[in-house]
Amino acid sequence: MAGAYEALRERLRTISNIGKAGAVLGWDQNTYMPPEGVHARGEQMATLARLGHEMFTAAETGELLNAAAEELSDLPYDSDDASIIRITRRDYERQQRVPAPFVAEMRRHGSESRQVWVEARRTDDFPSFKPFLQNTVRLSRELAGYYGYEERPYDALINVAEPGLKTTDLERIFGDLKREQTPLIKEIAEREQVDDSVLHQPFDEAKQEAFGRMVVERYGYDFNRGRLDRTTHPFEIALAIDDVRLTTRYDPNFLSMSLFGTMHESGHGMYEQGVGRGLEGTPVARGASGGFHESQSRLWENLVGRSRPFWEAFYPELQKTFPEQLGGASLDTFYRAVNKVYPSLIRVEADELTYNMHIMLRFELENELLEERLSVQDAPEAWRRKMDEYLGVTPPNDRLGILQDTHWATGLGGFPNYALGNVFGAQIWEKAVGDNPGIPDEIGQGQFETLLHWLQDNLYVHGRKFETKELMERVTGKPISTEPYIRYLRGKFGEIYGRLS
Ligand code: ZN
Repeated sequence: MAGAYEALRERLRTISNIGKAGAVLGWDQNTYMPPEGVHARGEQMATLARLGHEMFTAAETGELLNAAAEELSDLPYDSDDASIIRITRRDYERQQRVPAPFVAEMRRHGSESRQVWVEARRTDDFPSFKPFLQNTVRLSRELAGYYGYEERPYDALINVAEPGLKTTDLERIFGDLKREQTPLIKEIAEREQVDDSVLHQPFDEAKQEAFGRMVVERYGYDFNRGRLDRTTHPFEIALAIDDVRLTTRYDPNFLSMSLFGTMHESGHGMYEQGVGRGLEGTPVARGASGGFHESQSRLWENLVGRSRPFWEAFYPELQKTFPEQLGGASLDTFYRAVNKVYPSLIRVEADELTYNMHIMLRFELENELLEERLSVQDAPEAWRRKMDEYLGVTPPNDRLGILQDTHWATGLGGFPNYALGNVFGAQIWEKAVGDNPGIPDEIGQGQFETLLHWLQDNLYVHGRKFETKELMERVTGKPISTEPYIRYLRGKFGEIYGRLS
């Protein structure tokens, strides 16, 4: 069957176009759409999602995949074309396993449950959310059953975001982090605390925006192929390799929110702008996994943006932008302030050191719920206990505890990528700097080309070609390890808080 691969590519391009058109609607909904447009927009997006899903899961896609695989059986494993066939087939087979009525049930549950969650959180009313969380657990278990797994139900769920990674891999990673980070957090809590009042002053929003734009443009985020808009919940969205958009939000009385938020989203954005062009219009044309995506947002936000060399280059400019607020604050004061550590009840407000503990807690509870070692009834109390154990703080109510995140309104298994991002980011950074020891000095000069090009050549270009463990081996030559991340934390926070044992 000559031309099967070309026919497959044509079909995938159409499916991708439908999906990207839906993404444009989603971007608009979260930026400029008038509030009353929400109902019609929901229907428009659902229509496009349905058309794309029907076309992707149709038998014809499977037939083209088989014929194309036969036609191109000699291609090297890591070539664009072989990877497109391999990854598309993996996605196709997974989606085939889930019956359409179940997909509809999950979607219905999700939208209803999210509304109940919003109200339950507002009024601190866990009992009203409880039946919906029970349903989320039941549906997640059923979904895991459809996907299939050998040992643990979580294996099936995590495999979507992190192909090939197992629950036991995550337990090993989180075990390392718990062992290393818990004493570090306790030790720092006993040290003299950092004063970050310099960040909590009135900062003109237009100036915040201009500074953030300037920084990410210097990073190498390409504004000819991107934008930066305002939103309530910041995100990055790729509408094409040449159209990757960022959003951010501004707090007029706190500098960090937009500044580090914009850096964070630019890391996601540069990853998507760097995907190999040969992959465009296929399921392979995006970042490899949730963990790898977060590794890039974290790398540009924390390893670069919260580093001393970065602020040696940019602090004078920031002082010039805000002379009244920062004119009297030294570089050292500012650097310490942006790296302040304090255990918080709320995940999204957590600092670089304590963030992983929030994720670990959710990961452990999700597994206990899925494996019926914990009932939904007892989950709020389990949450409080773990917060106390890992962070030394206990939420006074469920609003600041189990009700804080929206994720469990819709499904389980969505949290680990945030912690994996920290771990992966440090490992990738260590390799990049090992290969190019001049990178920190360049950053001290406000230059980022060597780092960005290294990341583009070694990671971004591959898109979604490789599974999580495989990709880390390719990028760093080593298996996934928490050691670089722990080394980084000890080095940085030892410098700020005094030598750590
Ligand atoms: Zn992110």
